[in-house]
Amino acid sequence: MHFDNIYDIVKNEIYAGDRLLQKYFVEDSLTHKKIENRGQLLKYYYQDTHPAIIDRATWEAAQKETARRQAEFWRPRHPFSRLIKCGICGKSYCHKAGKRSRAKWGCLDKEKATGSCKNFNVMDSELLKACNNVLGLEEFDEAIFKDKVKKIIVQPEGILEFHFHDGEIKREKFITDKVELRRQVVPIALYQGIEICCGIHGHRLWHALINGRHYWKCGLKVQHKVDCDCWSHITGTKVLQMVKKLTSRDDITYENLAEVVEKSIVMPDNTIEFHFKDGRIEKCPKP
Ligand SMILES: [Zn+2]
Ligand SMILES: [Zn+2]
Repeated sequence: MHFDNIYDIVKNEIYAGDRLLQKYFVEDSLTHKKIENRGQLLKYYYQDTHPAIIDRATWEAAQKETARRQAEFWRPRHPFSRLIKCGICGKSYCHKAGKRSRAKWGCLDKEKATGSCKNFNVMDSELLKACNNVLGLEEFDEAIFKDKVKKIIVQPEGILEFHFHDGEIKREKFITDKVELRRQVVPIALYQGIEICCGIHGHRLWHALINGRHYWKCGLKVQHKVDCDCWSHITGTKVLQMVKKLTSRDDITYENLAEVVEKSIVMPDNTIEFHFKDGRIEKCPKP
């Protein structure tokens, strides 16, 4: 007899002084190959057949605990777990919980420090929409989904490829979270009258309010998807911090920023050039 792991030791009744007979049986009398008795034959349980090395109360408590842990391990998972695969690297997609509408699925490879996969995230809302479309459902039904769908492959061109158990494949377009992010972005000219532009191409920076935080991003990136070398992702807190420092005023907020600052230019050397309403021009390094 050999033990594969601690589980086998804990489950072994011999330590409690009992014997369970016919756990294994010889299926084929020619090969003498032993197989596990999974109910094909009767099993015989005898108590106190020999001195125990573990008292019965401890043994029974251990049985209860292993049963509890097993139940926990096999608890029902998210219906999409392990079913979504990356169309670039082949790894599974894992769920990233987020605030309300921000919950999404992303390639497992991206989660690692060494990961290099660039495949898109899929928002929960888009995934459900696509599922309902391919299954012809009004509302998501886990039983129908599990019954029909074998796997979903996220293709990098923004397509969810549904592979059905019967071999059928259906493709559904989805909106990536990047597009969703872009939707929340408005040109800076529309925001509080504050103008921030890129010091390389002169593009206006675009403003976004995400989860209550202000960001500015180079217009070249947002509009034309061209990478710009300017310091293109600026948080509102940093801009406020810089203006407060340059003006020695603590009362600067997003609301009154435009009263003080005429425009600002984001320079590629990680500084912002502020043009104040009073004519002053000052550069401030990234805090
Ligand atoms: Zn991947
Ligand atoms: Zn730029």
